[in-house]
Amino acid sequence: MTLPPPLACPVAAMIPPPAPAYRGRFAPSPTGPLHFGSLVAAVGSYLDARSHGGEWLLRMEDVDTPRNVPGAADDILRALEAFGFEWDGPVLWQSRHSAAYAAALADLRQAGLIYPCACSRKEIADSATRPAVDGGLAYPGTCRAGLAPGRTARAWRLRVGAGETAFTDRLQGRQMQRLEADVGDFVLHRADGLFAYQLAVVVDDAWQGITDIVRGADLLASTPRQIWLQQCLGYPRPRYAHLPVAANAAGEKLSKQTHAPALDARRAAAELVRALRFLGQPAPAELASARPTEVWRWARQHWDFTAVPRQRSVIFPDQPENSA
Ligand SMILES: [Zn+2]
Repeated sequence: MTLPPPLACPVAAMIPPPAPAYRGRFAPSPTGPLHFGSLVAAVGSYLDARSHGGEWLLRMEDVDTPRNVPGAADDILRALEAFGFEWDGPVLWQSRHSAAYAAALADLRQAGLIYPCACSRKEIADSATRPAVDGGLAYPGTCRAGLAPGRTARAWRLRVGAGETAFTDRLQGRQMQRLEADVGDFVLHRADGLFAYQLAVVVDDAWQGITDIVRGADLLASTPRQIWLQQCLGYPRPRYAHLPVAANAAGEKLSKQTHAPALDARRAAAELVRALRFLGQPAPAELASARPTEVWRWARQHWDFTAVPRQRSVIFPDQPENSA
């Protein structure tokens, strides 16, 4: 007679499964259809995750609801599917995750790390003396010591330090900002009542257990703020790799703002080949007329992170070289 299998030890059952060694993500904003620039970020993060035997999660960064374009999120998901991406687990929608952002904000408030700010855009423009790293103006700290009498809170800002916030990017090398001078105390809860992107992205990366962030170098200047916020919330710091962004011949980043064309899913293989070549991977031209699964087979066998250009932007032709 065979014995039944032993019951699982109840204590062992309470121990959470080990965190994966690698969990990456792709986090598009539904402000328009998938274009070449976002495809590059998706391909780079996907192949880096899979080449590490890691997971790859999908997050819809729709926290800035006034910027969302109706139907764009569904278009992006359909395009990713047509291009042959396979993500792990359900999609995280930031617009449905407000409770987590509110809880993080409450923790920061409890710890005295955030403060209400009454400044309008114009007041900041009139009083700021330094440009911020990503355009705009560094917040001069007007409301740091408390609101002046009769002033009404509009937004909540996070105190930043005067010292260096530094990290080493896997592609771009050592990066450093002095947040107080380079950015100033930054907004986590906006005057219009919405949670700021910086808060949502940091909370979600921790909530999803992301170990590795591979994204476009246009977000390089945001990273020290995100690292500072991770430290304030006691979150672990992921590894970072900022891919070069695709620029047009005028040196402008390909984006919805520069009217980058939407990707045609009927040309998925050709677009994947273009994205691979942009990332320094010598995908054979004949793959452009193959099926996406064949491009992925080649890409997963040949992915070489060390071949990715270590630049912030690379000029890339607007038009595909290989028409399938
Ligand atoms: Zn203020």
